[in-house]
Amino acid sequence: MKKSVKSSSIVENIKEIRDKTILKRKNFTSDQLNKPVSFWIKDDRLLNEKGKEFTIILRTKGCSWALSDSGGCSMCGYINDSSIESIDDKHIINQVNHAFQSKLEEIRIERKNFIFKIFNSGSFFDESEISEEVRNHIYQKVYESDRIQEFVIESRLEYISKMKLIDLKNQLNDKYIELAIGLETVNDYIRNTYINKSMSYDDFIKVFRICKEIGIGVRVYLLFKPPFLNEQGAIDDCVRSIINLINLGVETVSINPINIQKGTLLEYLWYQNRYRPPWFYSLFKSLRKIHELKKDSTFPRLISDPSGAGTKRGIHNCLKRECNQKMISILRNFVLSQDFNYLNKKDAYYDCDCLTRYRLQKNFH
Ligand code: SF4
Ligand SMILES: [Zn+2]
Repeated sequence: MKKSVKSSSIVENIKEIRDKTILKRKNFTSDQLNKPVSFWIKDDRLLNEKGKEFTIILRTKGCSWALSDSGGCSMCGYINDSSIESIDDKHIINQVNHAFQSKLEEIRIERKNFIFKIFNSGSFFDESEISEEVRNHIYQKVYESDRIQEFVIESRLEYISKMKLIDLKNQLNDKYIELAIGLETVNDYIRNTYINKSMSYDDFIKVFRICKEIGIGVRVYLLFKPPFLNEQGAIDDCVRSIINLINLGVETVSINPINIQKGTLLEYLWYQNRYRPPWFYSLFKSLRKIHELKKDSTFPRLISDPSGAGTKRGIHNCLKRECNQKMISILRNFVLSQDFNYLNKKDAYYDCDCLTRYRLQKNFH
């Protein structure tokens, strides 16, 4: 599974590439600072039904881990969206207000319930990105909207405290709250050596227990096919991770197949032909395997909404449009319904000749 690699040289490479990326970041206008990076409404899976997601990606000063001497995670290019100019609470509050204002009517007339996700490409509980005042403003906005049933935020472990979680729970007691954590894999070696995440599974468990105690759900992000793993390694890592998380009882697992982001170590490896984004076949194989092994268990909500799906930089099979479109639609149907039958209809989707090529190379790339 592992290809030979020296961890100290990985960190050096990440730092060198990250420093160049940070230098190349562009300046944002005042208008851009007062509007989020993006925001949208689309179909999504709610805990027990099909619904809608309302997502806002805020522009902040950027992830402290990525800006530190560590260089950040090997696959993450979010730092490109962060601001060089100083960005204050007022800007971020304006970003939130702008997105809410723009989508207010759409939310009002929609019949389905909403899950609201607010992401800052860093950590919601990092005070240097999102202050307490901004957090309270966001809680208030969510509280005021009856249509929002679920609320999701994400954070690295070091910024999460019991007090912050209790405060959140107290302010939004009638909503289902989920804390998303980028655990990426249950394997500490892969997470810390290949991804450079600097996070231990034991620390994750401590936060998980606090959430359980307070009544907050936990969503785990898993990275599908981290650098230096081949397809079979990615399948094994994903299956092992999800089984572990099912046994633990997390509420949601979000599987994120790698998307090659600009200015990352991963992009460098990809240019050198030392990395290929995962095949859909591998993702489906992992999901089918988990279903087979755990079919008598209660499953968490399983989500996967891959960025760049069907392109060279994202999860793809061959580059035939119809082959990838079919895969994207199967994955979408599975996520919205949580019905494994969508993944089991082999005849329906194993008809592209790239399957043979995949089988031949899955242990090598
Ligand atoms: S993956 Fe998360 S923790 Fe890692 S650098 Fe990106 S934003 Fe920071
Ligand atoms: Zn194909």
